Amino acid sequence: MLTKLRVHFLANIGKVMTSDELREVAGKSEWARRVRELRSKEGYRILTHNDRSDLKPGDYLLENPKPEPKFQKSISKELRAFVLDRNGFTCQMCGAVAGEPHPYDDTRKTRLHLGHIVDKSQGGKDEASNLRALCSVCNEGASNLTLDRPTISKLLIQLRRAKREDQLEALSWLKSKYPENS
Ligand SMILES: [Zn+2]
Repeated sequence: MLTKLRVHFLANIGKVMTSDELREVAGKSEWARRVRELRSKEGYRILTHNDRSDLKPGDYLLENPKPEPKFQKSISKELRAFVLDRNGFTCQMCGAVAGEPHPYDDTRKTRLHLGHIVDKSQGGKDEASNLRALCSVCNEGASNLTLDRPTISKLLIQLRRAKREDQLEALSWLKSKYPENS
């Protein structure tokens, strides 16, 4: 099954695929987990709308047929612990807390990963200042498919109340997501 999906992605390099299409290839209950595995275990850089502003939610795109070695390996245990601690063991996108049921899928316990703020493909480094804690849901770009989006007024209230360093982190994330507007 995993092979089927991998073959499908590799046969469609550079072509935007929809979740419906992938569901058909890999099966209704399995496809999302398989996409996750291709990204996290096999290192394929499958892009979603979280990575590229020209992709719609539910779009998937593989541009590079060559999987990347897992970046987590180049990050030391100490650096990982430092970033998770600094971020309060909380997903910096949705606020899910490590070990607690995930707010958008309470059948899953929240697991945190490290994500790059500025993507490595854009020169981002494996440094504390460029890393943040992300839950698996946000890390896979799946959270926006299932969650209610915050209204702009709530979003701005949160941003205005946030710590300066977090505001700067939000700024640099926005710049990396919308390079054409920065
Ligand atoms: Zn999250």
